[in-house]
Amino acid sequence: MQTTTRAIHGEPTYTRVKREPTRLLSLYNTAPQAEITLEEFELYALDRLQILRSIESLRLRGMKGDEFRMKLEEIISACMPMTLGTAEEVRKDQISHFILRIAYCKTEDLRRWFLKHESELFRFRLERLDSNERAKFMEQSGLAYDVVSKEDVLRLKAQLQAVPIFSQQPGYGQGIHTVEVTRTQFFRIPFTQALDLVAHRQVFLEGGFAYVPVERLVSIIVARFRSSLSRGLLEAFGAMPYVLTDGRIAPLVSNMAKQYTGKDFSGTKTGDSLDLNDLDMLADRSMPMCMRVLHKNLRLEHKLKHWGRLQYGLFLKGAGIGMEDAIQFWEKEFTKIMTTDVFNKQYAYSIRHYFGKEGKRKDYTPFNCSKIILGPGPGHGEFHGCPFRHYDEANLNKLLERAGVGAMDRDEMIKLSKGQHYQLACMKHFETTHKGAESLISMDGVGNHPNAFFAASMAFYKEKNGEGGRRGGSPNPSSQTSASSAGPGEDAGDPASPHGESMEIGTGEGSPPA
Ligand code: SF4
Repeated sequence: MQTTTRAIHGEPTYTRVKREPTRLLSLYNTAPQAEITLEEFELYALDRLQILRSIESLRLRGMKGDEFRMKLEEIISACMPMTLGTAEEVRKDQISHFILRIAYCKTEDLRRWFLKHESELFRFRLERLDSNERAKFMEQSGLAYDVVSKEDVLRLKAQLQAVPIFSQQPGYGQGIHTVEVTRTQFFRIPFTQALDLVAHRQVFLEGGFAYVPVERLVSIIVARFRSSLSRGLLEAFGAMPYVLTDGRIAPLVSNMAKQYTGKDFSGTKTGDSLDLNDLDMLADRSMPMCMRVLHKNLRLEHKLKHWGRLQYGLFLKGAGIGMEDAIQFWEKEFTKIMTTDVFNKQYAYSIRHYFGKEGKRKDYTPFNCSKIILGPGPGHGEFHGCPFRHYDEANLNKLLERAGVGAMDRDEMIKLSKGQHYQLACMKHFETTHKGAESLISMDGVGNHPNAFFAASMAFYKEKNGEGGRRGGSPNPSSQTSASSAGPGEDAGDPASPHGESMEIGTGEGSPPA
């Protein structure tokens, strides 16, 4: 068994720790009966959510192999240690799983997301066990398969030996090797339960059965875990009305999927203070598509509806625009179509409100991607939301084309969006418009938070030009003909489309759904 510890030089390394593997791994067939405080309820769930989101983010960044495992091991150690199998570790593991199961059972999208990342976490933990521990776990979990007799193993020795084994386990013979047939336990499993191995020609078949060495059982056990969890999610969905009658936990459960677990950008600045005069250029160069659309339409129509004002206003706040500047910015735009008096009465209050200066005096934080993607989509005349989620193919293509994204990259982003990988599409947008960023800056949070996208872009231009902000960077070359030279209040519509995006996006056929 292995856990990650820090070596002298600061690099993670694997060491063996005695633990109870079967206590640490579960198919989660039975919900735990335990008393728990409301505080624990939330903390446990958020810690597990952090792990699942980290898995997503590591994968989005293309991380795999040892690098992925070591990073994930570090995150697990920080959020929810699972090393020794203590009662407390097992309790937290079980409870947090079932809280998230109920929080992620509501919609098909949420169920798919949870299933995918829980299965990946399960696989990761299963792969850490050695062959004996896996066999023990299977026995205790009721995953009983026929053990192939010694006589049959000897009879089939040549065939079994011929199947190459690819192991990814650090410290357990990584790479391709052959099985020590006489020293390995084989299981006879109906081939329909071993389709993953069959598809990759990684198992010997005879008479409708797959002969699976104990160390290849991972994909079969993970498949069982997936199907059992999939059923469990549907059962949880059936129990939802009952859960929601409990006023203590209903709000937590209902909003769990929208909880952001990364940096929240409250009261933070991107670095240097932003100059309002730079916003047109920054919208083209450094903002993610969701905010670019809002900025452009605000400039064009001199107004935004409620959700758009909130989404963009909080983004600007997180990007470093202070309250006085924010009021000045919105007032300058809105008073092109209304009097200052009307602006002050109807809009200035809400700006002061989300800066925590009115009403409940709560300091509101910018929306993260989950909140935007899972939140209400834009209706007619609205421009909030995430274009990768809420725009149809034709309008998304048009939008990206105007943002200067080339045809091949556009196709890839649209494909990702159609596959419901909205955040991956957004990351792709960042990569194509910030060539070489990975070697210059940290891209943590890009695709998870609009402000992380913006902060990473600002850092990129600062690194690249040694100055940062407007003074150092030039807009995305393909966007240079856009509004970068327009001052506040001037029409920032894209010259390539005289009517601006608002005339073509969000109206008529193919507009974002209400
Ligand atoms: Fe904005 Fe996030 Fe959508 Fe990117 S993925 S466009 S940052 S909401």
